[in-house]
Amino acid sequence: MSAPLQLLRNYISGEFVASEQTFPNVSPIDGRTLSQVCEADEALVARAVAAAKAAQHGPWGDYSASQRAAVLQRIADAIERRFEDFVAAEVADTGRPVQQARTLDIARGIHNFRTFAELINQAGSECFEMRAADGNDVFSYSVRKPHGVVAIISPWNLPMLLMTWKVAPALACGNSVVIKPSEDSPSTATLLAEVMHEVGLPAGVFNLVHGFGPGSAGEFLTRHPDVDAITFTGESRTGETIMKVAAEGIRDVSFELGGKNAAVVFADCDFDAAVAGVLRSSFTNSGQVCLCSERVYVERPIYERFVAAMKAGAEALKIGYPDEDGVNMGSLISHKHRDKVLGYFELARSEGATLVTGGGVPHFGDERDNGAYVQPTIWTDLGDDARCVREEVFGPVCHIAPFDRDEEVVQRVNDSAYGLATALWTRDLKRAHRLSRRFEVGMVWVNTWFLRDLRTPFGGTRLSGLGREGGRHSLDFYSQITTICVNP
Ligand code: NAD
Repeated sequence: MSAPLQLLRNYISGEFVASEQTFPNVSPIDGRTLSQVCEADEALVARAVAAAKAAQHGPWGDYSASQRAAVLQRIADAIERRFEDFVAAEVADTGRPVQQARTLDIARGIHNFRTFAELINQAGSECFEMRAADGNDVFSYSVRKPHGVVAIISPWNLPMLLMTWKVAPALACGNSVVIKPSEDSPSTATLLAEVMHEVGLPAGVFNLVHGFGPGSAGEFLTRHPDVDAITFTGESRTGETIMKVAAEGIRDVSFELGGKNAAVVFADCDFDAAVAGVLRSSFTNSGQVCLCSERVYVERPIYERFVAAMKAGAEALKIGYPDEDGVNMGSLISHKHRDKVLGYFELARSEGATLVTGGGVPHFGDERDNGAYVQPTIWTDLGDDARCVREEVFGPVCHIAPFDRDEEVVQRVNDSAYGLATALWTRDLKRAHRLSRRFEVGMVWVNTWFLRDLRTPFGGTRLSGLGREGGRHSLDFYSQITTICVNP
């Protein structure tokens, strides 16, 4: 007889709460059901919001910034103590390599709490001095206060990393939160609730509701009138829906949305570093990072050589079980998402792409054939108007095209509905400086990719987002700022 499946519950007002309605959490590695997840209905979501609101008037409301910083450090310590549990949960939900979960997902989750603990401890405020008409020297200074209840809606692609990127600064600024993780990655959020319980965070400060988006926990949460601010990471179309909902009551929003990012490779680059960098930026996490490069532009003199090197590199990637030695790539998140990616593979064929490598599903001959794997895929020869060059695929795929002139490549990179990130590969730093500011994106990397100093602003333009988070930008978003003008 097999053991009963684990039940992942909601966490509301300091208690784990089951619900009648459940849905399965399915492994993308082999299609097995990993756990049952309790879906929060409208009444449970309302209870979570009420608990969060009440917590603002409890002991949490009196915590000083340094006390909150100490709590964040204790949360980071507690995640560290359960590091391997978090790694196992993230890997099981998403099929990613264990090594990635250790060095990126969970490590960065801890780092998020430590970084915002330090930032809130050091955060000052503005003060201006002015001589008024009556001759008095007037001081105007500002203070930060929490919004109150912040709703955090997060996606499945980097579940722990992206959830804590928002939970940490929201708590640092004194808010209480209700989080709604993706239905496809509910496990690390549940472990995080256990950690919050263990460190003794006052009841109601951190609440977790599970469920889907429309007609489920996501919509119930964002529609709730007692939610004061909404921070969301996910698809641009979902962002549009949430923005309309947030208009009711003029709630603050911060959006980190989709991308169709470019990598630009100049003929003077360090060739091997550029190939390694673009392989990473195209195929990390099976291409399921909002920052991945799906459009690669290569200066014509090295174009053929670069495409050949990318083909060799992609074909050398090891796809496999998360804990296999040397594994580089895992599965996609779900069968549903695989269908979407395979739909783009088909579309590329009908749009006339040349398939350099990949374009299908790997065959394993074991239970992974029930999983959600696809091959790393490279296309060439599509026009700039092809849907595969304009739409976000969010899989291990890139299109490589040649370019001849700086001006031309700037124009082609900017000709996109998205504006998240661009990566440049060149030895000419003068050119890199000159061009970097011309890309209409939130983030430009030069000779690197996905390297983040958490004190810097992060966000996108156009369909890629609204607002900036990171460093003081997060502190600003997660606070209400009041100016106090004193005429002595
Ligand atoms: P998604 O928009 O489908 O879902 C994200 C979250 O929103 C989930 O928790 C989902 O349940 C919830 N949701 C869906 N509809 C909702 C609604 N109507 N109301 C409230 N909540 C709703 O996105 P996804 O597929 O989980 O994530 C992938 C997308 O996220 C990609 O487009 C990717 O580029 C983007 N992303 C952006 C960034 C960034 O920093 N810019 C980072 C990671 C991922």
